[in-house]
Amino acid sequence: MRLTIGHLYPDLLNLYGDRGNIQCLQKRLAWRGIEPEVKAVHAGDKIDFSKLDLVLLGGGSDREQKLVCRYLKKVKQSFREYVEDGGVVLAVCGGYQLLGNYYKTNQTTIEGLEILDIHTEWKVKRLTGNIVVRSKLFQHPVVGFENHSGRTYIGNYTPLGQVISGQGNTGKSGQEGIIYKNLIGTYLHGPLLPKNPEVCDYLLEHALRWKYRRKIVLEPLSDVLEQRANRYIAEGAM
Ligand code: GLN
Repeated sequence: MRLTIGHLYPDLLNLYGDRGNIQCLQKRLAWRGIEPEVKAVHAGDKIDFSKLDLVLLGGGSDREQKLVCRYLKKVKQSFREYVEDGGVVLAVCGGYQLLGNYYKTNQTTIEGLEILDIHTEWKVKRLTGNIVVRSKLFQHPVVGFENHSGRTYIGNYTPLGQVISGQGNTGKSGQEGIIYKNLIGTYLHGPLLPKNPEVCDYLLEHALRWKYRRKIVLEPLSDVLEQRANRYIAEGAM
């Protein structure tokens, strides 16, 4: 088996080691004898979503988000079709915000891709620090680091989880991230996947099932060290 991961704009959306998410996806596939292929998409490159099995958008500053938005607008329709069809996406912070209708900053309004009917508004106080989230999808807490000025309003969508410690989508709603079909949007950097191997395997399993159109269950890995790190972060933040 083989899986193709599309890493969108790694030079622009790359805050706080989000690239580590790609390495984690690759490693956890390779450890199971599944061949990972990573296609980096740079500014101006064409994106053929039919060739991708999993798409990753990292976080970026407002300035970089504005640049990326210009390129992403060209693939708005095909990106939406990919998501609606069940294509797997992980979008972190700036990348998460870009999937909505807009992100209103203190300077301008950055147009979103309108894949999700959500929006983000800038507030002067940044929401920064370690964060711990409880998600129904995962046995262990989801841990990470957040640093954003944007508050994301997700309406009636399902959040990724409830904030146990930290700020999340708005700092007030008690909710963090979003789950829509096979898309996960989240404010958690850190990077997210090495700290939360369950989330990594969730994405991989869904991407393999979507690609091969059958139920695939990944063989478990010994995550003793990873879970110890996860527990350490969770306990330290609470
Ligand atoms: N620029 C966005 C904000 O400040 C996203 C930042 C990020 O990706 N960490 O809200």
